[in-house]
Amino acid sequence: MKKISVLIPCYNEEASLPLLYTELVKVMDSCKFYNWEVLFVNDGSRDQTLSIIKDLRHEDSRISYVDLSRNFGKENAMLAGFDYVTGDCMVIMDADLQDPPSLIPKMLEWWEKGYDDVYAKRYDRGKESWIRKRCSLLFYAILQHSTRFEVLQNVGDFRLLDRVCIDALKKMRETERYTKGMFCWIGFKKKELIFNRGDRVAGKSNWNFGSLFNLAIEGITSFTTTPLRFSAVLGFIIAFLSLGLMLFYFLKALIWGDPIQGFPTLVVIILFLGGIQLLSIGILGEYLGRIFNESKHRPIYIAREYNGKKVD
Ligand code: UDP
Ligand code: MG
Repeated sequence: MKKISVLIPCYNEEASLPLLYTELVKVMDSCKFYNWEVLFVNDGSRDQTLSIIKDLRHEDSRISYVDLSRNFGKENAMLAGFDYVTGDCMVIMDADLQDPPSLIPKMLEWWEKGYDDVYAKRYDRGKESWIRKRCSLLFYAILQHSTRFEVLQNVGDFRLLDRVCIDALKKMRETERYTKGMFCWIGFKKKELIFNRGDRVAGKSNWNFGSLFNLAIEGITSFTTTPLRFSAVLGFIIAFLSLGLMLFYFLKALIWGDPIQGFPTLVVIILFLGGIQLLSIGILGEYLGRIFNESKHRPIYIAREYNGKKVD
């Protein structure tokens, strides 16, 4: 019998877990011809999440869990999941029921037809502010224009991955993680399913605008070096233009003389160039910081416990 793993990273999800479990049981019972494993990764929750998971495991042997030593963030928690899932395929989903478990049987159908990565695409983005929607569009546009592989828009982490994909993802152990990009990067045979993403059943989102902005920077800097080229190209253009300007001023001074003028022009040019320089240094800094973090070779997460056993 094939084994299906469901991977669920959880951070402070005590309110959603019981509801999620009931929904999952419905799905698991409707697909009895598979072995099931539900792997919760407790990402350093500060509430009762872990004890709820332990209770569930007590009653239902299909439940497994990895307990991380602190909050490492969803991206890192997912890698922990990749390392610990044992199934022939894995479904990644959120704990807050924004990813409907009822879609899983459909994903399995396509998996059986030979697809390696069955991902769920959001039909709409649910309740999101106008500005958040715009920003996410801009982000996808930048990323798509600067990478070689196809970047999928409005696709989250909710997907089914075959064992070959899991093994590929396990090899990508960078510290600065943008998992959504990795799913696209690894390739394999992909199939798209459309779904309606609802709102959280309980609790509140752990993302704010700041953390989304960081994720966007992460996405761009970990998948493309195009911004580094930006300063070089801009520098080239400005140098070219200033050569023309230099010639112009030189000839002007020769023909009409040079009364002291042009103070505003000078200030504007200096400020403009100063701004560009700072921006370029900032971009360099972003990449340098990432090289620094990567060069430390720290583990990406630290697990404290796997199914009640200490991890060493
Ligand atoms: N999550 C996590 N670690 C974190 C933040 C979030 O494991 O540091 C989990 C969270 O429990 C949920 C999923 O990631 O299962 C998605 O989080 P959330 O619902 O807050 O994000 P959103 O749906 O708003 O993108
Ligand atoms: Mg959510």
